[in-house]
Amino acid sequence: MPETSANPVNLLDLTRAGVAAWLQSRGESPAHARRIWRSLYRDNNLRLDSIPGLPARLKALFSWAADAVPLPQIENESRSPDGTTQKFLFRLADGVRIETVLMRYTGRTTVCLSTQAGCAMGCVFCATGRMGFARNLTTGEIIAQALLVQRTLAAEDTRLRNAVFMGMGEPLNNYEAVMRAVDILHDAGGFALAAERISVSTVGIVPGIRRMTAEAPPTRLAVSLHAATQEERAALLPAARIWDLDELMAACRLYVQKLQCKIFFEWTLIQGVNDTPVHARTLGRLLRDLSAHVNLIPLNPVSGAGASAGSEPERVREFQDILLEEGIPATVRQYRGVDIAAGCGQLATAP
Ligand code: SAH
Ligand code: SF4
Repeated sequence: MPETSANPVNLLDLTRAGVAAWLQSRGESPAHARRIWRSLYRDNNLRLDSIPGLPARLKALFSWAADAVPLPQIENESRSPDGTTQKFLFRLADGVRIETVLMRYTGRTTVCLSTQAGCAMGCVFCATGRMGFARNLTTGEIIAQALLVQRTLAAEDTRLRNAVFMGMGEPLNNYEAVMRAVDILHDAGGFALAAERISVSTVGIVPGIRRMTAEAPPTRLAVSLHAATQEERAALLPAARIWDLDELMAACRLYVQKLQCKIFFEWTLIQGVNDTPVHARTLGRLLRDLSAHVNLIPLNPVSGAGASAGSEPERVREFQDILLEEGIPATVRQYRGVDIAAGCGQLATAP
């Protein structure tokens, strides 16, 4: 979209190279990108007209273009009783609402970012899937979530350490905006999150995984598996009817081989559905010879999802033990933020 006074550029949409190119297009030195970047992402200062050392012409532009860094409105905030998890409800410029979650684990302060308002993938146990799809978020709308969380953390004298693209939406259905956000979060002059501290989670969009294999963005990849046979997976995840398990696993193997890295698999444990020892052994066999790590997530309650319940802790442990026996590292992601409906799969907003 061309830049006009009614429609100024949103700097949060741009990578650092993009900011430099934008400066150049205005006849300014691209060297100012470093200062602007630092102000936005290190110092939490969005008043760009206050940056020392910037030419008066640019400062004047920034004081005019207050919208160069538009932030969504915080419409609501809730915090879990133990204070570790905080959920934000943001209202975007067009009125669309999204949720973002901040998790204060010691040394691993993590933001869970939304990539779409709603989701078109319709997984049966997910509140976001049940609300349907409104639209893709822009890079600027994704980065604004991290900035607002960072601002909360700065007031507590701490910094963001991890970002997971596991909020509302399917990241690989919004590939370009998401990968630009990954690039911004990784950039050493700003948030400076190492690639191992950024995770993109997908329901299994095979073309997106292939594209990541070719482009090697600085992020980990987590694939929501939840079932280790095509039939069972298709019953839980409509997307599995488009990209079947064989095709998905072939794409995952290629990813690991080409990028020489580990791949993460998520497995939501649903009582009586995918949590028996047989399921664990089948998963173990599926992942054998693959450099994989499994995250087990006992199902979080979602209204309207029928009688489904999360597996009992004993079942979870047994499942984990079998995977370990099969040589597959596995960890359990516990009920974080469930008391404020901020757990995996619980994010949903009214239209
Ligand atoms: N769309 C992406 C990322 C967002 S969902 C994806 O599906 O991977 C993040 C994770 O939460 C996914 O692994 C998803 O399967 C899981 N999830 C969804 N609903 C859940 C629920 N009710 N309880 C536990 N995990 C859930
Ligand atoms: Fe979308 Fe992920 Fe929820 Fe499935 S689990 S509906 S892909 S957000």
